[in-house]
Amino acid sequence: MTETRKFRRPRLNMLLMLFLGLATTVAWLSVVYLPTPLVNRMMREDISREAESWRMRVLHALENGSLTFETGQLSPQDTAWLDEVTTLSDIYRFKLFTADGEVFWSSRPSDIGTVNNKPYFQSVVAMGEKYYKAEMKPMDEVDGHLHAAVDHHLPGDMLCVAEIYTPVMRDGRFIGAIEFYTDLTAMGHTFTARLRNIFLGLSSISLILLVMTSVVIRRSGRAQLRVIRQRAVKERELMEDQMRLARDVRLLGELNEWLQSSRSLGELFEMVGRFMSHILPDSEGSVYVYSNSRDVLMGSASWNGGHHCDHIRAEDCWGLRRGRTYTFGSAEVDFPCGHSETQDERPSFCFPVLAHGETVGLLHLKAKAGVTLEDFRASQKLAQMCAEQISLAIANVQMRDQLHDRSIRDPLTGLYNRRHLTETLRRQLDRASREDRPLSILSIDVDHFKRFNDTHGHDAGDMVLRAVGSVLEQLCDGDETACRMGGEEFMLLLPDLSLQAAALRAEALRSAVERITVRYGEKNLPRITVSIGLAVYPEDGTMPQQLMKAADDALYDAKGRGRNQVALAGEEDPAAAPNATLLAAHRDGASAPEDDAA
Ligand code: GH3
Ligand code: MG
Ligand code: MG
Repeated sequence: MTETRKFRRPRLNMLLMLFLGLATTVAWLSVVYLPTPLVNRMMREDISREAESWRMRVLHALENGSLTFETGQLSPQDTAWLDEVTTLSDIYRFKLFTADGEVFWSSRPSDIGTVNNKPYFQSVVAMGEKYYKAEMKPMDEVDGHLHAAVDHHLPGDMLCVAEIYTPVMRDGRFIGAIEFYTDLTAMGHTFTARLRNIFLGLSSISLILLVMTSVVIRRSGRAQLRVIRQRAVKERELMEDQMRLARDVRLLGELNEWLQSSRSLGELFEMVGRFMSHILPDSEGSVYVYSNSRDVLMGSASWNGGHHCDHIRAEDCWGLRRGRTYTFGSAEVDFPCGHSETQDERPSFCFPVLAHGETVGLLHLKAKAGVTLEDFRASQKLAQMCAEQISLAIANVQMRDQLHDRSIRDPLTGLYNRRHLTETLRRQLDRASREDRPLSILSIDVDHFKRFNDTHGHDAGDMVLRAVGSVLEQLCDGDETACRMGGEEFMLLLPDLSLQAAALRAEALRSAVERITVRYGEKNLPRITVSIGLAVYPEDGTMPQQLMKAADDALYDAKGRGRNQVALAGEEDPAAAPNATLLAAHRDGASAPEDDAA
């Protein structure tokens, strides 16, 4: 419906009601005050018709027809018939005129021979027109007594009588006229009653129409009001939907921005938890990420009352197994996932978290208690968008982690590289100086490695280097850092250890390397040894370069003294050194190295 029609209709309704109201009033007024001109007009028309009919009958009855009017002569039969007319009809008096206006016959004999000189005779009747006149007359002036007897009039009553002149024409020429007198009193009553009934009927009909129209208008008005109200409700709902959508879009944008700026997965999951509680307040949530080994998914975060297991297997989740979003609770037959901590009937979504085509985790959302399936399902699209953003963010962080890891790791041994060691040493020195703690640094070099490589090949050398790296890694706990500085040189940072403890660790390391057996093809490779130089903060230096140089110097000392041993920085005479006895005792306890690879 167009706006114009909508507004035009009430105006049309008003006009219709107004018209019907007016019609009812007019019809009702007509019943009460009957319009006399209308009654008169009706009577006149009726009398005219009657006069016409009588004119025909008279002409037909006269022996010579219309010729009689030209001669003014009547036969005895004519007179006999004419005498009967007043007794057979409502006509109580009538006259026949010649063209000159002379009465040549009248039901009142005294009129015969008189001439009608009235102007209307020549100006109207002689012109071929009927002349009609109605007036009230006392009853005794009306000829005959028939009417009084029939209509129960009383003497002295006034009667309404009409006289009508009907011209008689012959070949278009006026040759005479007939005048009829008739009593209209009864006819007037009849017409009045008839008209009154007609107006009464009309007023009733228009009243009924008025009532019906007003009922219809009221009903349609109510229906329109209902439609308008429904439309208003719909528009409000639409507006609310749009506002909700705008809020969701804004929150999604903010989530995206925050996630992009997160530095680690831990930080990322904290943001996810906060945002998801706002974006999807009706859902409990948890997120899982594949472990490095990819055998299980680690529970990483949960929010809004949700719980996450320590770890789950991919087989525990229908979403992960089927590789697409799984909705529990909407199908007639479905199965809950094994990781869903409470096996209730609340609906839930499992969104596999994908990054670069690979599944990296799982986002699990469950309807909070009291939330209907319909409402929960309505949030699926938004939840899906969140899952996609979270996927991207996880992928970003993981990729950043990988890149960073690669930049600080040695690809052959998996140990940290020189760059990382330098940074860590600086950091740990700061901390040692701040907290007044010791820090030891070990410089390690494989003995005669060139010879080993030359004899057994580069690949065998690599295997040995990997084995040494693995021993170093195993020996490190907590804050301790093992690095490959390049070639067959390694370094170890040992915070919080006294010189003695560090010397023992160095000795343990030397001894562990000495015991490494590497299988290469069909045979075992000859054992290798390392020489180690040990320097300690703050005694041997307070700056990174100073300390590293002190450790390297000690390493050269160890090489100079015959290799496969630990030397302490600043140790002039190894035999006199305070730790020499300790190291020697330790060395003696360890198994002696096999013959040099040479
Ligand atoms: P020293 O006991 O005095 O340390 O003698 P060395 O032979 O170990 O010392 P040198 O510095 O002369 O030789 C180091 C050798 O290490 C040279 C090279 O063949 C070997 N090397 C360096 N980097 C790698 C590597 O990545 N893989 C292998 N297989 N060998 C390497
Ligand atoms: Mg070397
Ligand atoms: Mg060497």
